[in-house]
Amino acid sequence: MKLKKVLIGVLWFSLTIALGSTSAIATPADGTVVGTTKIVDNGPASDRFNLVLIAEGYQDTEQSQFAADAQAFINFLFATPPFSTNCSAFNVWRIDVESDESGADDPTACSGTGTEVDTYFDASFCNGGIRRLMSLNSATAINVLNNQVPDWDQGLIIANSNIFGGAGGSVAITSVGGSWQNTAIHEFGHAAFSLADEYEYWAGCGVDTDRDHHPAVEPVEPNVTIETDRDLVKWNDLILDATPVPTTENADCTQCDSQGNPYPGQTVVGLYEGAHYYHCDSFRPAFSCMMRNFAPFCPVCTRVILEVLEPFQPPNTAPTCDANGPYVAECMGTTTTVMLDGSGSSDVDCDPLTFTWSGPFEGGTATGEMPSVVFSNLGVFAVELEVSDGTDSNTCSAEATIEDTIAPSISCPADVTVECDQPTDPSNTGMATAIDVCDSYPVITFSDVVTPGACPEEETITRTWTATDASGNFSSCVQTIEVVDTTPPVIDPNAPDTITPPDASISFTATATDNCDGDPSVEITGYDCYFFTKKGKRIDKTESCVVEISGDTITILDSGGVDDQIEWTISAEDNCGNAVGATHTVSVVNPGNP
Ligand SMILES: [Zn+2]
Repeated sequence: MKLKKVLIGVLWFSLTIALGSTSAIATPADGTVVGTTKIVDNGPASDRFNLVLIAEGYQDTEQSQFAADAQAFINFLFATPPFSTNCSAFNVWRIDVESDESGADDPTACSGTGTEVDTYFDASFCNGGIRRLMSLNSATAINVLNNQVPDWDQGLIIANSNIFGGAGGSVAITSVGGSWQNTAIHEFGHAAFSLADEYEYWAGCGVDTDRDHHPAVEPVEPNVTIETDRDLVKWNDLILDATPVPTTENADCTQCDSQGNPYPGQTVVGLYEGAHYYHCDSFRPAFSCMMRNFAPFCPVCTRVILEVLEPFQPPNTAPTCDANGPYVAECMGTTTTVMLDGSGSSDVDCDPLTFTWSGPFEGGTATGEMPSVVFSNLGVFAVELEVSDGTDSNTCSAEATIEDTIAPSISCPADVTVECDQPTDPSNTGMATAIDVCDSYPVITFSDVVTPGACPEEETITRTWTATDASGNFSSCVQTIEVVDTTPPVIDPNAPDTITPPDASISFTATATDNCDGDPSVEITGYDCYFFTKKGKRIDKTESCVVEISGDTITILDSGGVDDQIEWTISAEDNCGNAVGATHTVSVVNPGNP
């Protein structure tokens, strides 16, 4: 596909040179010149290269389309080196011309559609029997140019047809079909800069039979030669010593040279055989070029273009500096990366700009239009930008803020239930943990709200944990600690296992201790008195035992006799209702026989 496209272009370029831009049928202009707009203004017409774009085949309702097509071409031209860095040499003008009908003639003689339309400059395809070669009424075009832009240097008619085609000359013409903007720039290379075609065929590779050897006449154009003596080549000063001359040679002069670029991906100036419509004995400066195959202009052509434009260049104007900003970046950790943006800077001369940034970021300086720089601290910083066009420079600054607005992420310990005699400090109930993007060590604190429970020893602690980073961002979570009392008191009867009758009367006061309640209630709730016969029969002795109980105290006034068992029951209860019961029994024994 690509080869075919190149062949089409080559075919057409060849005929462009062969036939030039000639007027076709001279007919009265079918339409109206509306007016002229200076769409790129870099100064007085007398001082600049005046490129004039002219509408052809656009009706009155299509003038805005012409304006858009013209602007698209200008954008393309000024994005194409070396025009991309030398735009201030140009003024560009747009002449709006309304045609009675839309499009361009496309004769059936060239297998066209047969379209015939009344247009101002009589644009037509099929010049000389080649569909893609266009013709126009050049006299009319020059008339319009002289009237509208007397200082015009190059005219380019844009014909409103999507069929691919065009023609060169002092008033060039292009359709808006295919890669027409490249084609127009190629023709511009011929017309304004006297550049030759650098390709090596006429009708096409594999078609030509009379293009084997270039005539032994040196071409006048600066970008093709028949000279093979290195010292005499027109562009010898651009050929490095290490580059062989010739750089490539065509092994078969009956054909286009099929070898590829000996310096793949590079543009190395040398002497490449095959140029100026011949397979052999003619040479071009580079493997590829806009004048060969729509590649970027080669260094030789570039130098010629710059020499031609030099008188049209205005004095340098310093670039405008735009550091963009303010930049606000969220802290990313110990360092934070910020992409600076100097792309708002500009230069009316289209000079390439260099960017030098300085500021309190790592390294202190950075280069490039949009460098990423690394800050190590939080804060508000000034970033300086110097923009240079190689001759003059300007400086500007922007503010960069590295901030931390994101709170730590906190995790609370699990809710927990603890006995009332256990500690409720975090070493027992758990610590919260926190992580923070910016602060490696957020501070963790807690505060408690205590809600009393159903009894004095029980409570609910609502513990709010808070993690706070160095910038004061904080987040909280809540842990609930239930303090409970499930442990009953422990009873001590404070009584021996035996007494002897003379001991009476004797009192025993039971006590109780509790894990939490300092003063659990104790009460003796009853007693019994009995003894067992030798046969094991239980005999009630409550009639003979004289016992009083009062609260937590039992008083044995009369033990009732040896071998009696006096048994009493004790109950205790803490504040939280944990109750316990116990019995204690004393045996009444003979004083001499305990
Ligand atoms: Zn070139």
